[in-house]
Amino acid sequence: MLYFDNNATTALGHNALSSYDVSLLEDWSNPSSPYRAGSRVRAKLEQAREELAGLFSFKKDQIIFTSGATEANNAIFAHFSTGLKLKGSCLVSPFEHPSVIDSAKYWFDQKIIYMPTDGNGLVNLDETCSIIETEKISLVSLMAANNETGVLQPWQELAEVCSSNGVYFHCDATQWVGKLDTSGLCTCDSFSASAHKFCGPKGIGWLATKAPVKMQLGGSQEFGLRGGTENYPAIVSMMVALRDAQERIAEVNNRALWRDEFDKGILAGIPNSQILGLGKKRLWNTSMVLLPDYENLRWVGKLDKLGFEVSTGSACSVGKEQGSGIADHYGLTTGQGHRLVRVSSYFDHSQSDWRKLLSAFCIVYKELRSDSVSSSVLSL
Ligand code: PMP
Repeated sequence: MLYFDNNATTALGHNALSSYDVSLLEDWSNPSSPYRAGSRVRAKLEQAREELAGLFSFKKDQIIFTSGATEANNAIFAHFSTGLKLKGSCLVSPFEHPSVIDSAKYWFDQKIIYMPTDGNGLVNLDETCSIIETEKISLVSLMAANNETGVLQPWQELAEVCSSNGVYFHCDATQWVGKLDTSGLCTCDSFSASAHKFCGPKGIGWLATKAPVKMQLGGSQEFGLRGGTENYPAIVSMMVALRDAQERIAEVNNRALWRDEFDKGILAGIPNSQILGLGKKRLWNTSMVLLPDYENLRWVGKLDKLGFEVSTGSACSVGKEQGSGIADHYGLTTGQGHRLVRVSSYFDHSQSDWRKLLSAFCIVYKELRSDSVSSSVLSL
């Protein structure tokens, strides 16, 4: 099988798996226990935190390990909504991940302002800046890269504008970390990330935050901000995966060309197809295809049988009646929303894998057309 759904999750990397295994066997003691085995795990855990903080130019006590990005994003909105009556609105893009949009709705009630966009997956920076300068805003949150279209957002510029206006800026960097250069993330007041997007284990990630965000009541773990026994084996495995991913980031320019070739092939081979976010700066691994005919699940099923795993949109939108979250932003009809197919590669894919995927799309298109011809003949 060729797996092209890496924006949903990635397979655990080999090195990450071996460090996970070793640590499950050897470093299972509670890091808060007072005897030597516990202290050893505590020391290793703090070393991992220090390394992570260093990689992103945050301070050690600004890194809170979490169960992933959903938890980190929720916590930021809960924190900044405290004493809300006295405070301003939150400002978010309309195509944030549900862990941001739903948190904004839940915690900020009606006090949400959506960032203006260009209608093709990109936030309009100038208009967003004037909102920050004129409205009372408590929290600005913008994703670094969209999980569905891959469109890269102007988060660094916005982080700077927020900083000069004294407004807190959070960035959901879940789809960026492990795929692109992360050096600018230190300009954000906080950002979230998740290990399973870069070949680390599921259920582990972090919130890097310059404000002390109270996340979970309980023990004194994580500087008293998130009570609960830390999952050290997952943390060490995540660090291994992150190092491996960071080492490969130099390769991404070539890889964007492979995806571009796929996009061109789709547009040429499947009449009236579209690529959402085409012409924008996008993640090198992602393409969101709007197909002209036939429901996306039929495409997905046939591609699956041919040996390719692709998705109908973000994993979080599967099962939601309206399908993909990005469909609303593009003003797609319900029918069009159900003709979206997202493909997302990762470092192990070759150019030839992309070419095979393109051929598979063309084969499926032919099959679907001939299926519909034969079914209309049968119904005569
Ligand atoms: N934000 C974005 C942009 C994502 O793509 C995801 C994962 N689908 C999340 C947040 C949530 O991450 P996690 O699975 O770690 O909760």
